[in-house]
Amino acid sequence: MLIQGSCHCGNIAFEFTLEAEPKEIPARACDCTFCTKHGGLWTSNPAGSLKVTVRDPALVSKYAFGTNTALFHICKRCGVVPVVTSEIESHLYAVVSVNAFNGVDPALIQRKPISFEGEMVESRLARRTRNWIGKVEFVEGD
Ligand SMILES: [Zn+2]
Repeated sequence: MLIQGSCHCGNIAFEFTLEAEPKEIPARACDCTFCTKHGGLWTSNPAGSLKVTVRDPALVSKYAFGTNTALFHICKRCGVVPVVTSEIESHLYAVVSVNAFNGVDPALIQRKPISFEGEMVESRLARRTRNWIGKVEFVEGD
C-alpha cells in the first residue's frame, strides 16, 4: 500500500510504502507539549519505507526541543508538520503525520492517545529503532 501525504502548500510531500494492505493504521495522538499545540497524530511501521520530497529546503524549519533527539520538519509557508525524523547511530528513522495524509480512508485510522512523558532518552531511542519507519530517503528539488 502506498500512502501519499503532504503539507498544505505541497512543499513537503511524502510517499509511505507498506508491504501489505493494512486493516487499520494506528495513529498515535502524542501528548507532548509540541503535539498538543499542533494536534500531532503520528504513524509509522518498522517494515515500511518513506520517501520525502522537499521542493524548497529553505522553506522548511527543523525544530527540536526537550531531549533534542527528534526533528520536526515544519513547512515555513503553510505551517504543517508532515514528518518527524530521529537520527540514531547514523541511521535515520521517521514517523509521518496522519493529518497530512492525502486521500486515505479515515475509517482505516485508529486513533489512540499516547504519552512518552518521563521516558528516559535511551529507552526513547530504542523504541524508535523498533517502531519508527526504518527506511527513510529525502529528495530535494522538483
Ligand atoms: Zn507547506
